[in-house]
Amino acid sequence: MHTRSTREIRIGNIRIGGSNPIAVQSMAATRTQDVAATIRQVELLELAGADVIRIAVDNPKDVVALAEIRAARPNANLVIDLQENYRLAEKVAPFVQKLRYNPGHLYHIERDKPVKEKVRYLVEIARSYNCAMRIGVNAGSVDPEKLSQYSKEDSISPMLDSALEHCAMLDDLGFDQYCVSLKDSDPNKVIDANLRFAEARPDVPLHLGVTEAGMPPDGVIKTRIAFEQLITRGIGDTIRVSLTLPFENKGDEVTVGRQILDDIEHGRFRSVPRFEQKGMNIISCPSCSRVENEAFIDLAHKVKEMTEYAKDHAITIAVMGCRVNGPGETDDADLGMWCAPSFVNLKRGPESIGSFTYDEILGRLRQELDKLIEEKASVTSA
Ligand code: SF4
Repeated sequence: MHTRSTREIRIGNIRIGGSNPIAVQSMAATRTQDVAATIRQVELLELAGADVIRIAVDNPKDVVALAEIRAARPNANLVIDLQENYRLAEKVAPFVQKLRYNPGHLYHIERDKPVKEKVRYLVEIARSYNCAMRIGVNAGSVDPEKLSQYSKEDSISPMLDSALEHCAMLDDLGFDQYCVSLKDSDPNKVIDANLRFAEARPDVPLHLGVTEAGMPPDGVIKTRIAFEQLITRGIGDTIRVSLTLPFENKGDEVTVGRQILDDIEHGRFRSVPRFEQKGMNIISCPSCSRVENEAFIDLAHKVKEMTEYAKDHAITIAVMGCRVNGPGETDDADLGMWCAPSFVNLKRGPESIGSFTYDEILGRLRQELDKLIEEKASVTSA
């Protein structure tokens, strides 16, 4: 195994980067405003041994909830996931040890304000409250300006470009307590993006993760393959395993993460060097405070069961938990669903098919799946 050579950053009472052990983190899947449920998530993740726990905050009510969660779990190293409303940083920073922002979300509010100014503001807040930062780039929500500079086939370059640009902004501001993540639901892209980033910026600590990896065991396999390829090359300072799990089992993300790290350390590898998706590929998000109907988790499991008959067909189906990231994150799937409070939106690639109730959706998905299989078969036999 190559040794890691990134600089060290502090997140509460742990350090990542340099020769520190790889930290394992996870995220509360409940609505942040459901204070009791979110406190329970933090407790479960702490019990499972999470080094850092992330909570999403998107409005002032979430901030109030966060204060209560912090009071109930005073020893957790908390990181806040800033969504579109980056100005909430000043309200949440007093309660947390790290701020994560997504460069692709800085465009949603105050559109006329230069991104550099928004980043300067975030850095000032992080400095004042001694918080670390993460520049979290996600394939489903890349800065549109970067996307427009590359061909549709090249999804990695815009992510990389965005991450490097934001690193340069933080460097110019003299702030070095940050790490970077480049996530995709395809483990091969996670490998490529992180290899390229580590080559360009070997000094910056990396947070590794395969986003929307789905349900165990497939989600674990995808994640394991990406981590093996990167960590053995000395790339990766903290990890998160994203799995679609019942809320009460959320600690499994941490247990699985530790197991993968232990296997890598002891040379227990899978023989597959790259992820070879031969049949049905179901991607589903790990859920977070944005989930508007918990039935989403059940739906993801039912989709897996229902599509079992088609498991040999190379088709990607995406199941996402909310209307905020769901529409963008399902664009690349053959069939995609994103869940609203009382209905589920079904898409074929980027095109919308319609909205269906939770009772109707499986039947309709099956129709669309059969149609797709038939079309693919006729193309092959033509
Ligand atoms: S798709 Fe929505 S609910 Fe799922 S993890 Fe992403 S933001 Fe959270």
